[in-house]
Amino acid sequence: MEKMNKTVLAFLCHPDDAEFMCTGTLALLKDKGWDIHIATMTPGDCGSATCGREEISKIRRKESENATAVLGGTYHCNELDDVFVMYDRPSLLRTIEMIRKVRPTIVFTSSPHDYFIDHENTSHLVRTACFTCGIPNVETPGVKPYAFTPYLYYADAMECKDIFGDEIKAKFYVDITSVADIKEKMLCCHKSQRDWLMAHHGMDEYIDSMKRHGQRRGSEVKCEYAEGFRQHLGHGYPHDNILKTELENFVKEK
Ligand SMILES: [Zn+2]
Repeated sequence: MEKMNKTVLAFLCHPDDAEFMCTGTLALLKDKGWDIHIATMTPGDCGSATCGREEISKIRRKESENATAVLGGTYHCNELDDVFVMYDRPSLLRTIEMIRKVRPTIVFTSSPHDYFIDHENTSHLVRTACFTCGIPNVETPGVKPYAFTPYLYYADAMECKDIFGDEIKAKFYVDITSVADIKEKMLCCHKSQRDWLMAHHGMDEYIDSMKRHGQRRGSEVKCEYAEGFRQHLGHGYPHDNILKTELENFVKEK
């Protein structure tokens, strides 16, 4: 078993997903001395109505790098394709390799139930990768196994609901009011997406929707802005809530 380090990886699906759902919590962990990594399953190659896949991918990798740099962190891309995030052997091996390279103690990923199957498959890929990264017979040439099962947390689904419209309740919350400006700064780095929505809605829906989500979660635990999470508590994963230990009073329950 490897020693526990202070490395956290937010491994969600698309560029800007982490910035919507969990970078407030990452900012608080940064303050506690954690090393920050953000990975995306894809480079966001379908996130444009005007640029081709290669061009927009280049732009969005850079935007994610800029956002991650706000926390002095490192950005990685798993280089799968938008709309085609499959739960299959090659995608899983790539995801396991990412966990083995970063060697995190804490992992955040997309909600297992969400509006987009890309998000759900990302959630499943990361879940399995956390559980299997230590198995030597799962071979990733040049990258050695990581004999540690990270603490795994699921971020909120879009609009906190599943595909039937039923509410997905958070199991606990992190009060991010003190770092809400950092979260906004990180999301603003995704200029291509912000501008696209601005043109479409005629207002800053990109930033506004992030704020509404944070306020909604905040109102559930009587603070201004919060992020909601569920911890993976299946067999074989750590069951104590390390975020409670690390972030103490910032963690709230209803
Ligand atoms: Zn997404």
